[in-house]
Amino acid sequence: MTVAADLFALQETDIALDSARSRLEETENQLGETVELTSARDWLEAAAEFLRQLKSEQSDLEFEADEVRAKVGTVEAKLYSGEITDSRELSDFSADLESLKSNLSTREDAFLAGLQQTEDSEAAKAQIQAALADIEARWKAAQAHLQAERAELEPEIERLRAVREEQSGATDRAWLSLYDILRERRDGSAVATVERGMCQGCRITLPRNIVQKARNPAELVQCVSCERILVYV
Ligand SMILES: [Zn+2]
Repeated sequence: MTVAADLFALQETDIALDSARSRLEETENQLGETVELTSARDWLEAAAEFLRQLKSEQSDLEFEADEVRAKVGTVEAKLYSGEITDSRELSDFSADLESLKSNLSTREDAFLAGLQQTEDSEAAKAQIQAALADIEARWKAAQAHLQAERAELEPEIERLRAVREEQSGATDRAWLSLYDILRERRDGSAVATVERGMCQGCRITLPRNIVQKARNPAELVQCVSCERILVYV
């Protein structure tokens, strides 16, 4: 024989099952990489790429400066060798030398500026790297926590499902179908307790005869207002 308290117990199981299922869904949604983590990785990759480019530009500048420096040496040697006597030729070589020196100086300045920029970029990259390590550590701890939670929720859901099966299997079919309809209609709450003559589902004061009927556990009594099955506790 089904009594209202059995349906109340079934409802408790269903509420626990719904809550465990939604918690599992939330947990599963949070498993995996976070935007924070992937963004930090992207920033680090961008910083590393910027630094690579900077270093490659520096190395080009260094190479070009070496070439210009060698030319300066050649032109200087020629100019001061005493081999050139023609004043026009001397003046051309002098102009060449000035131009090469100015070219060298521009490259050297650019190289020095690049050194400072490289240093700053190294520091910025190291900062991002440290931030990423911190984010990764927090993420790993959170993931481990979520996995542990999932490992607890899965068997708990199985257990509750078995309990529900047993409870619903032992419930009178008519009561069960009314319970299912009400649960759907009343947002998961099909059974309400009666306390001090009030339906705890909708808080109305119940007619005396309804309260009397609800006192009999084998009687299926519904609230006159919200239609929930009443259980007297
Ligand atoms: Zn009610």
